[in-house]
Amino acid sequence: MKVFKFGGASVKDAASVRNLAEIVRKTNEPLVIVISAMGKTTNAMEELLQHYFKQDERKTQSLKKVKDFHNSILHDLFPENAEIFQQIDKIYLALEDKLKEEPTMTFNFEYDQMVSFGEILATMIIAFYLVQAGIDCHWMDIRKYLKTDDNYREAKVNFNASKKLIQENFKKNKTYITQGFIASTSNNLTTTLGREGSDYTAALLAFFLDAESVTVWKDVPGVLNADPKWFDNTVKLNRMSYTDAIELAFYGVGVIHPRTIQPLKRKNIPLLVRSFIHPEESGTAIGNFDYQKLIPCFIFKMDQVLIDIYPPDLSFIAENNFESIFEVFARNNLKVNLMQNTAVSFRLCVNNDPHLIPKVTNDLSAKYQVIITPKLELITIRYYDQKTIERVMVNKEMILEQRSTKTIQLLVKDLG
Ligand code: ASP
Ligand code: MG
Repeated sequence: MKVFKFGGASVKDAASVRNLAEIVRKTNEPLVIVISAMGKTTNAMEELLQHYFKQDERKTQSLKKVKDFHNSILHDLFPENAEIFQQIDKIYLALEDKLKEEPTMTFNFEYDQMVSFGEILATMIIAFYLVQAGIDCHWMDIRKYLKTDDNYREAKVNFNASKKLIQENFKKNKTYITQGFIASTSNNLTTTLGREGSDYTAALLAFFLDAESVTVWKDVPGVLNADPKWFDNTVKLNRMSYTDAIELAFYGVGVIHPRTIQPLKRKNIPLLVRSFIHPEESGTAIGNFDYQKLIPCFIFKMDQVLIDIYPPDLSFIAENNFESIFEVFARNNLKVNLMQNTAVSFRLCVNNDPHLIPKVTNDLSAKYQVIITPKLELITIRYYDQKTIERVMVNKEMILEQRSTKTIQLLVKDLG
């Protein structure tokens, strides 16, 4: 049994649903198919939720947007009298009922109750299409089997409870279609696993069911050595170890998420990243491969901010300072991309977050002198060499550099 995961871009319209069905048909073996919301539906649901939570009249418009988008796909895929229309109408009604009530709980709770509709709609439409196309598959509501705590929007999976329910209810010789990203508490209240969480769902199902592999179908040929947004001559990586995948994901390679790798690594289940546009191609395999030096891989993070922290009397940055500095970052939930200490200062590089940075600066100012340098770029090169460093440093001024054996990070200012 294999796990396939299709993200929003791979189910963004009727043509891509047909393409998905072809991929499944050609595979012709038992699958657990994990699907996230269609196209940009999660963003649309977030907008709807914002309006709902503020009781803003624009919620009607936002709802219409979600319905129009799905309806146009439905009309393209099915004849007028297909039963799926009634099923989807029931989902719309449930959503409309929810919108009529006033929000009574926390924002994060309401978020999970509402945004999860995107995944339910997507899987119902696609399951119905697959069955109509003659593919024997069963729709599963993952919320019955994947159990979490009640930390809404970032729920933590209860491995023991989920393992039992998933093993009991997913048979190895059948094909299932189910939702990524969503789950539920022990009281059956819907939770979500954090944005882009459906790869993680796929990894968890593979872990519990001892799947042969997980394939994530993408609009790129596999994991590339650089983002084609910034580089012309990108190269696809054919194979990479779990460790390289975790490292690259940590530094910001968007196609993989660090937490997705963990459960797969524990059971040695390979992760395949493949193109749904060219499903005949092999993509990238991530697995328990021997160490292999890869070609240089680049990760660019734009809009970085350097925060320099000095003790007021320019005394040494000592151990006792670290505690109070990290406490401020942890409390404000500001993620640090790079840090370095010097004799008289401590330097941290973070994403430009216009909301959090002033709060952090303010908190630090109670004890330290703080200097902010905005508009920087963070370049990470894994498997670097001098030539690649020179290549990326053209027209850049170096602000800070950090090297380890395999990775170099360069915080630079663009002079162009
Ligand atoms: N639909 C969710 C999101 O867009 C989860 C996912 O796609 O992985 O974040
Ligand atoms: Mg999505």
